[in-house]
Amino acid sequence: MAEDRAAGREGRPDDPQDTDDDPKGQAEAAARALAAQAATDADTETFARWGQGRALDDPAQDWRALTAASADMDTVATADGVYHYVSPASGRLFGRDPIGIVGHHQDEFAHPDDLPVLRSGWASTLAVGIATVAYRFRHADGTYRWTETTSRRVEAGGTTLVVSTVRDISERQQFGLLLQRQARTDPLTGVANRIVLMDRLRQALRRQDRGKGVLAVLFLDLDRFKVINDSLGHQVGDRVLQSLAERLLRFLRSSDTLARLGGDEFVIVAEDVADEQAAAELGHRISEAGREPFRVGVEEFICTVSVGITTTADSRHSPEGLLQEADLALYRAKDRGRDRSEVFDEDLRTTAVGRLGTERMLRRAIDEQRLRVHYQPIIDLRSGHIVSAEALVRIFDPERGMLLPDSFREVADETGLLVTIDEWVLSSAVEQASAWHARFRETDFSGVSVNITARHLADARFPRGVIGALDARGVPRDRLKVEVTERVLIEASNSAMTGLRALRDAGVEVGLDDFGTGFSSLAYLRQFPLDFVKIDKSFVHGLAVNGGEDAIVAAIVGLSHALGLAVIAEGVETQSHLDSLKSLGCDCAQGYLFARPGEPSAIDELIMAGRA
Ligand SMILES: [Mg+2]
Repeated sequence: MAEDRAAGREGRPDDPQDTDDDPKGQAEAAARALAAQAATDADTETFARWGQGRALDDPAQDWRALTAASADMDTVATADGVYHYVSPASGRLFGRDPIGIVGHHQDEFAHPDDLPVLRSGWASTLAVGIATVAYRFRHADGTYRWTETTSRRVEAGGTTLVVSTVRDISERQQFGLLLQRQARTDPLTGVANRIVLMDRLRQALRRQDRGKGVLAVLFLDLDRFKVINDSLGHQVGDRVLQSLAERLLRFLRSSDTLARLGGDEFVIVAEDVADEQAAAELGHRISEAGREPFRVGVEEFICTVSVGITTTADSRHSPEGLLQEADLALYRAKDRGRDRSEVFDEDLRTTAVGRLGTERMLRRAIDEQRLRVHYQPIIDLRSGHIVSAEALVRIFDPERGMLLPDSFREVADETGLLVTIDEWVLSSAVEQASAWHARFRETDFSGVSVNITARHLADARFPRGVIGALDARGVPRDRLKVEVTERVLIEASNSAMTGLRALRDAGVEVGLDDFGTGFSSLAYLRQFPLDFVKIDKSFVHGLAVNGGEDAIVAAIVGLSHALGLAVIAEGVETQSHLDSLKSLGCDCAQGYLFARPGEPSAIDELIMAGRA
């Protein structure tokens, strides 16, 4: 643009170069006069005359008015960078009288660090006609103010002058620095963010060949953070994250980096750690720190920390690879009961490869429609009749036969494939319930039980979908029973609880699965919208062996009945299990003693046998 203007100016008829007899001498004299006069306090008449007499590219500009009113400092300098005119704004902006600036070189007022920027901007101005640079101008009090300085080259009678507008942008600059800092900081905790983390990892790896100990990467998160967030609210969750960050910073040296990746995931990068053992000790101290209670307002609670650690002394490692190793180690810490730290080893990679294989197997099985549903009968202990059946997913593998969920459920959950699998199981079960209802409506067989997960409940459309599917097939709603684990109930959000209530209000029966395995308290039975309770097999297996188990089962049965809930025992394998359960008043049972899960046709036979 400046070049366009410079080009357009050349043939202009009123250009002083074309009209004056001695244009060069006059312009120089004008500039000198301007500088001298204006500097001592703007002899505005001279300045105005100079403005008319030289070739400013905008003829409408009234320089006098402009410089008087301008919040910015206007300057005129010769091509060598020496000030010839400075407007009075210099006093307000930089505490300097114009006379203290005029005659000096601009370099004298610039921050030494900014000289390269200033000089290259100057060179551009002279070369192309205009340039804007940001540099710091020294205030009379010795501090520096950020300026944004736009300079234009002006040819006045053969003399090159540079007219500049110097704007104080200290505030804007500070704001910019703040933004820059924010772009690198996690806003919640003030620690580094992922961008900085990756940057530090790269730098640290580059330094690895110097042979001072190892580089340690620790990946950590809070155990059951979601429970806190869901039950106490995000504000409390946020406070916990802030306290955790503060707590972690106490352990770290100033050279270590603490970053938050999002959610409750933090990563620590520690350089020059003596060895793997020292890294493991750091991990240990961190998980210990998690055991201190967190206090938020009047609430006080424990939220333990799991840590995964990896170390390297090899600069060829990649930042992503290190994070992945630490993440795998964290995964093992979770797997081994949380509230602990684990160090990465190659076994973990093998497991990870195994998981990858499982994921591929799952995807293929889904594509090739090799999912199956097997049904395990549930027997009424008084009549001995089959009264319902639990739908359990299997995968048919051409080489290995039927695969049980234990071998794939975890990977399915992590990869999100569980949603697809569960949906398929649910629709098969509804289909099957419909078939059995049509065929056996006159018997005491009352339908199919399906396990549902937190993900189902989190989806507001789920209850409507289920009820719609039942209604579409003309299946009475109580022919479907859903089983949720205690964990799902306890970790469930309010909307999930609403979903569960909606199902139950519509007539679908709701049962509490694996009761007694988690954070059980009999109080939950009272709290949740339930129709039946399934006693976990671990209690059943302790029956008649351990008196304590009998007492627990008796208590569960007693309370459940008092609340109007039916009780089903899982994992009944021996006659003595069965005898004890009967004597304790349990209503129904399932387990190998009766039948293993199998094809729907096996259920048909049992129902027929019961009717016979
Ligand atoms: Mg179940």
